[in-house]
Amino acid sequence: MRVLVIEDELKTSAYLRQGLSENGFTVEVCANGEDGLHQALSVGNDLIILDVMLPKRDGWSVLAALRKAGRQTPVLFLTARDTVYDKVKGLELGADDYLIKPFDFAELLAHVRTILRRGPARQAEVLQVADLQLDTVRRKATRAGSRLELTAKEFALLEFLARRQSEPLSRTIIAEQVWDVNFDSDFNVLEVAIRRLRSKVDDPFQKKLIHTVRGVGYVLEERSE
Ligand code: CA
Repeated sequence: MRVLVIEDELKTSAYLRQGLSENGFTVEVCANGEDGLHQALSVGNDLIILDVMLPKRDGWSVLAALRKAGRQTPVLFLTARDTVYDKVKGLELGADDYLIKPFDFAELLAHVRTILRRGPARQAEVLQVADLQLDTVRRKATRAGSRLELTAKEFALLEFLARRQSEPLSRTIIAEQVWDVNFDSDFNVLEVAIRRLRSKVDDPFQKKLIHTVRGVGYVLEERSE
């Protein structure tokens, strides 16, 4: 099991490194938020122990960036300030647990073991537009209760439209966000993908959800007529 410790106080990080190593963990230490985030994004860690007050980037910002990048690595927050605000903020940002400094090692180890037993936090997020449902964790789409067989790219396209439902999205924005490339005004790939998506999402159903916005692009929304 690999544990990444992001902590700027040398005494604390040395104490964590020693204690965790003695208990069979592989430990990596970063002393500031930027290095910590870099390490958190690049290496397969089983758990991250994250201090709040850090140079360069605070623990909240590291956690927010990590979750925004879609990483569900469990995070144990270390906070020196035991205010309710800190705990709530940490948990809202997607921390799995927190511990107030100073803590004793046995207590930390108990928390670490509990988190690892639980596995990564995977909050089911379901996006809904009319009778269309997207489960973004299981990558599953259904319409009126029937499963839609989508490719990964089709799912990504539909998810992007669903996250911004009722908002007309330009072809350029969709291409950049879903394909991560600039199509240089040749939107053939996008148009073909939309046509395929419509054949699965809309064609079998009376109510259409994907609409063309003339001169702009597309919008996913429920319309009354
Ligand atoms: Ca600190």
